Amino acid sequence: MHERRKTRKIEVGNFSIGGKSPILVQSMAKTDTRDVKATVEQIKRLELAGCELVRVAVPDEEAASVLGEIRDRTNLPLVADIHFKLTLALKALDQGVDKIRINPGNIGGREKLALIAEKAKDKGVPMRVGVNAGSLEKGLLAYHGGPSPEALSESALVYTSYLEDIGFNDIVVSMKSSDVPTTVRAYEIFSNKAHYPLHIGITAAGTILPGSIRSSVGLGILLSEGLGDTVRVSLTSDPVDEVRVAYEILRTLGLRQRGPIIISCPTCGRCEIDVIRLAEKVQERLESMVEPLKVAVMGCMVNGPGEAREADVGIAGGKGEGVVFVHGTPGKKVKESSLLDALMDQIRKIREMSA
Ligand code: SF4
Repeated sequence: MHERRKTRKIEVGNFSIGGKSPILVQSMAKTDTRDVKATVEQIKRLELAGCELVRVAVPDEEAASVLGEIRDRTNLPLVADIHFKLTLALKALDQGVDKIRINPGNIGGREKLALIAEKAKDKGVPMRVGVNAGSLEKGLLAYHGGPSPEALSESALVYTSYLEDIGFNDIVVSMKSSDVPTTVRAYEIFSNKAHYPLHIGITAAGTILPGSIRSSVGLGILLSEGLGDTVRVSLTSDPVDEVRVAYEILRTLGLRQRGPIIISCPTCGRCEIDVIRLAEKVQERLESMVEPLKVAVMGCMVNGPGEAREADVGIAGGKGEGVVFVHGTPGKKVKESSLLDALMDQIRKIREMSA
């Protein structure tokens, strides 16, 4: 792992992005923004899952006009996602959003970007320059022969330099492509030339399994290179899944500690308890846990005791029974049917002791 690259720190609501701030987990509401009730409910579910910043689409004036109400009824900093129309950006800023995302490839030129920056500066609102491979400027596409990493990073550099020139520096940058190597390279090129905080993600990554894998590979490479100040995992799924996957990636690299890490063996012909069902049940019961805890669910006595001992709490299975380890110490043998309750009982005691 490389040391995290130092970037400029910017404030968004009660959170900050960049500098030495924790890598922020964000997501995007998938409701029709004009449906305030549904959007507020989804944002509240995202907050419970650990989301720290939420973006909403602003497709028209009606959606822009309810942003203030959504913000008043929720706790997370609210980001307005703007494409094509200057008026939507200005209205979103008037509604009191905490951050604005602009796609420089489709906002309609520098003059319009300048007007948005001027208003954002007046209101102390940061802006994400969100470059996307699917909407790069025609000139850049022609020059680079397509949406290459060089084209993506150049687009971001052109617009961040322009914003700098007009005195706007509260910038976060993203350069997204659905192609993982292209995305990674674009961030590498940009970060060698500018110090703005990076919003990283793989766009249109897919449904939950392939999307999580593609996001994990892409974000894993970038984060291990020290790049990335806020992450968004894009999945064709419930947005809460995006938050879960983002934390799993960050926990795996030791970059955030929220919630338990559950280690479970793949099972094999030696296994004499139902590890798959047991691990799924443990995952389900610990879904809302916020404190960090390492939990092992292992099927037999080959690797089981070793892994269970290394965890805060763990199960090593035997023939229709198992042993629960707590901080490395094995307890009594427990029947398979009582193993889940025995494990949860120990987790409850650990939580009570550390409360
Ligand atoms: Fe197989 Fe035991 Fe390893 Fe699980 S811990 S995969 S049951 S050898």
